[in-house]
Amino acid sequence: MSSDVRPFVFPGLTTRVIFGQGKLACLGDEVAALGHSRALVLSTPHQGDQAADLAKALGRNAVGTFTDATMHTPVDVTDRAVAVFRAAEADCIVSVGGGSTIGLGKAIAARTGVDQIAIPTTYAGSEMTDILGETADGAKTTRRGEEIRPETVIYDVDLTLGLPPAMTVTSALNAIAHAVEALYAPDRSPIIEMMCAAACEAIADGLPVVVANPNDRAGRARVLYGAWLCSAALGQVSMALHHKLAHVLGGSFGTPHAETHAILLPHTAGFNAVRTPHELAPVARAFAPWGDGVGPGLHGFAAAMGAPTRLSDLDLTDADMDRAADIAVRTPYPNPRPFDRADIRALLGAALEGAVPA
Ligand code: NAD
Repeated sequence: MSSDVRPFVFPGLTTRVIFGQGKLACLGDEVAALGHSRALVLSTPHQGDQAADLAKALGRNAVGTFTDATMHTPVDVTDRAVAVFRAAEADCIVSVGGGSTIGLGKAIAARTGVDQIAIPTTYAGSEMTDILGETADGAKTTRRGEEIRPETVIYDVDLTLGLPPAMTVTSALNAIAHAVEALYAPDRSPIIEMMCAAACEAIADGLPVVVANPNDRAGRARVLYGAWLCSAALGQVSMALHHKLAHVLGGSFGTPHAETHAILLPHTAGFNAVRTPHELAPVARAFAPWGDGVGPGLHGFAAAMGAPTRLSDLDLTDADMDRAADIAVRTPYPNPRPFDRADIRALLGAALEGAVPA
């Protein structure tokens, strides 16, 4: 026997998932299956046409659109959306887009208890989680609750074909970050471990195909399948150092979400792999063609896919790294490998320069 089975709790997966090419066509049936007939369709301004098309396709089962979803879910936007939702007497939410749009749907659900159907078009992975991050007066707060988790998720591979190549890569790395931290999360279960291993394999397989040809449906399906697994894992466990540092950089320096995750990941995963080589073995295996070990493998993969690898690419400086290290150690949080400020400063310094992690 290779190792003992750890004691675990598996809370179960409660979200209904429809996955495949052309599955958007199921939307009307899914609204009806939830017992609803007055959907408000959400999107960002950029995807407003897509929201309008969906509302049109839903016909009498849609009451309109709200297309002002914004990164980091500002509460003033949510307040406007809730007012539109109430004025239209909507009875459910359909969110089409990335984490920003799905975040708005969750914020409305948290205030009204309404059911949500999420239709993700990036790999960020908000759709399967019970997590809501919101910003007010420049500060971001995060909370969890079952009322926040969407009831239904439709993954339509076709909707990801138009995701721009750069965002495709950083968003996929953002997804992998969820799998990496889930693999060493104290509240993980064997199901989550299997899902995360499969996710890493799927994205390692699919992303090079998509980078070579963004319209390759089989490659897109592999990556989206991996992103689903990563999102489902994120929705079940707690996160650690990687997500804390991404939160510090995004919250205090305004760095873009997916890029920040993509650049930090090889460094945070490499740092924690020293203490969790067994847990992160699936990551090392999946990315072995690009480097020997968790950090080098992820770094080599990111670079080969054309992702940014230096925090200096996001206009951050040495002085910013000093401040980020201070903020990151201000409040304690669980991580599999203990650390102090010097460890974090060294990690951020390596990420600033894009050095290959040990
Ligand atoms: P995003 O939702 O902000 O999307 C970025 C831009 O890309 C938007 O303009 C969007 O309309 C556009 N876009 C999305 N899909 C597209 C497509 N297929 N083709 C063309 N354009 C497309 O970015 P994101 O990275 O998906 O989400 C980031 C946000 O999600 C952050 O605020 C983050 O905190 C949050 N998030 C939350 C959770 C959670 O569990 N609560 C998980 C992951 C991310």
